[in-house]
Amino acid sequence: MTDRNRELFDRALRHMPGGVNSPVRAFRSVGGVPPFIARGTGCRIEDVAGKSYVDYVGSWGPLIVGHAHPEVVAAVREAAEDGLSFGAPTELEVEMADTLCRLLPSLELVRVVSSGTEATMSAIRLARGYTGRDVLIKFEGCYHGHSDSLLVKAGSGLLTFGNPSSSGVPDDLAKHTLVLDYNDTTQLGEAFAEHGRHIAAVIVEPVAGNMNLVAPDESFLHACRELCSAHGSVLIFDEVMTGFRVALGCAQGRYGITPDLTTLGKVIGGGMPVAAFGGRADIMQKIAPLGPVYQAGTLSGNPVAMAAGLATLKLIQAPGFYDRLSASAARLCKGLTRAAEANGVAFSAQSVGGMFGLYFRPSPPSSFAEVMECDVPAFNRFFHAMLEAGHYFAPSAFEAGFISAAHSEADIDSTIAAAEAVFARG
Ligand SMILES: *Cc1c(COP(=O)(O)O)cnc(C)c1O
Repeated sequence: MTDRNRELFDRALRHMPGGVNSPVRAFRSVGGVPPFIARGTGCRIEDVAGKSYVDYVGSWGPLIVGHAHPEVVAAVREAAEDGLSFGAPTELEVEMADTLCRLLPSLELVRVVSSGTEATMSAIRLARGYTGRDVLIKFEGCYHGHSDSLLVKAGSGLLTFGNPSSSGVPDDLAKHTLVLDYNDTTQLGEAFAEHGRHIAAVIVEPVAGNMNLVAPDESFLHACRELCSAHGSVLIFDEVMTGFRVALGCAQGRYGITPDLTTLGKVIGGGMPVAAFGGRADIMQKIAPLGPVYQAGTLSGNPVAMAAGLATLKLIQAPGFYDRLSASAARLCKGLTRAAEANGVAFSAQSVGGMFGLYFRPSPPSSFAEVMECDVPAFNRFFHAMLEAGHYFAPSAFEAGFISAAHSEADIDSTIAAAEAVFARG
């Protein structure tokens, strides 16, 4: 069999580091050759060899209405006809800002950028500029993009400052970041007791989706809010993944917590490079051109990207959209759990709105340490068997999964049936 995927991967490896433009796509953690995707419609993608898959990655979250949704594609076409970029204000940007601020009451002012990394990096600079403080708290296993201050792992002691988790990040920068355990309210309280008046911001994924899926203890999120308020620190909810993914009101609506700043991405671009940060007016007014914190972007608010995002944001406001989406994700998790149970496989699954986690351990993890206890070789075998059977999950045991409105009950049931056969083979 000549495999076009193999051919393309070999060619990619010649001029692209690892053959990819973003590392997880290279299949390093599961092994093998990644399929090269030629097209997608609805919940399905097709690779260059003509094999079709039910897709549970959805471009890592953005494609909440499915691939190539006709209304999104039409909006993009229409916008493209009028020109691709101006670097000057456009009406679509105003519509985007109005829409985001209407859907998310914590946003008084919002700035649109082109990637989640840019959004979080800028939100952190803004929080530091606003407070005049340098220290940042993040939680192990949460991902907030790849800017220097965030590629940091815990230091040697519990409350000591961090070390770079990537080569190329200066120690001098990492030492301003304190890395704590997700869902550990006691530890967070201790950190504030010791360093409170130096803490510019706490940045947190309100549902952690970059260490597989770890659901928050609600008391932990409330403690983030209360401690930030008490110490004059800025609470940043990184909702790049959870924004319009877990509910129309995002995670902050779901859990009833108002952050000072919010970062968005993924869904708000509908598959185009769009992200945003926004929040309290008194903080956002510190951003250039109103204030002294600099931030800019040649392609920020790009009209074609705005069109895709706005078309997507319109579709998700349909009545019952999130009820159906959540029911689909729950159906998948329940079906997979039953299939595993019937075959004696140590497995669990859970969903929050339209995102889900699959775990090769008996119960869903509530901490980074528990995530690390998952049986990675078992996941990798499951992943490859499912891929072979035409069901595309994220190629790592430590990533969340995503469902779209285009997944029908029959699509989901076909995945559950395939998993049952895979579990039965052992
Ligand atoms: C994806 C993601 C980012 C980074 O977004 P990019 O667009 O990949 O730069 C930041 N934070 C969270 C929570 C994410 O899931």
